[in-house]
Amino acid sequence: MSKFHRFSIGSSEVVVLSDGNTAFPGPFLMIGVDENEQLEACRKHQLDHAAVESNMNCVYVNLNGNRILFDTGAGSTLPGCGQIFEAMDSAGISPSEIDYVVHTHLHLDHVGSNVDSSGKPAFPNARYLLGETEWAFWSDEENLARLDRAEFWKLPDFEPAMAATARTSVLAIREHFDTFPDDAEPLPGVRAIPAFGHTPGHLAYELDLGTETLFITGDLVLSPFHIDHARWFPAVDLDPEQAVASRAKVFNAAADKGALVSGYHLPFPGIGRLSRGDDGWNWVDEFAMSTP
Ligand SMILES: [Zn+2]
Repeated sequence: MSKFHRFSIGSSEVVVLSDGNTAFPGPFLMIGVDENEQLEACRKHQLDHAAVESNMNCVYVNLNGNRILFDTGAGSTLPGCGQIFEAMDSAGISPSEIDYVVHTHLHLDHVGSNVDSSGKPAFPNARYLLGETEWAFWSDEENLARLDRAEFWKLPDFEPAMAATARTSVLAIREHFDTFPDDAEPLPGVRAIPAFGHTPGHLAYELDLGTETLFITGDLVLSPFHIDHARWFPAVDLDPEQAVASRAKVFNAAADKGALVSGYHLPFPGIGRLSRGDDGWNWVDEFAMSTP
């Protein structure tokens, strides 16, 4: 079922487009956490510990005359995904009208719909943008060979697929990509924030929507319990210590501003506001969604 959620802030239109959802085992998402604590965390958020639901919330923003899409979903790389084009159709947005695809990082679940079934850019009129550190990692053939051998995350089920998707969905259309310094403002009203750790060049973005600020936080958290517990991290964080520090930096900034926050993998539509808590942060959903 295709899902989208639209809201406006001043003259800016924001549409959360769901690419679908998949599931990960609880222990994969809570490395080193006592099992009873894992179970309690899942109970609190009504998540199934054996199969924790993970959404793909791609964010479309019409800002300062640019139509921008932040990440493109998992496409065919993960079960339950590949729905972004249906969601766009339902929302009345054509892939051809996207001016910029902006990536938080190049994991397969964020670039999975970059190309169509013939390998051509799925957003034919868009420039694809990302930070120079992330580009440097994934465009290095030596790194791709090491991914094929699962030498980075030590995840043989995922790393060869990460490399394959980088080849087909990023490197094969590299002439459509532009990179920018990691702390740049690549587009008017879109400021990049280095938030490394999940991947070597993972970025968050701070969007100036006039009367509101919206933080695009990518994979700083994968599940609600990563908001509750500032030091919990998943198996897919390459440098957990750095990832945890990046999360604190961005989430504290968002909390102190009272800003809107988008979490890519949070329950749809994954938009809320943060305040600082004792351990992690408190999250308040901006839009109460009823389950269909
Ligand atoms: Zn992800």
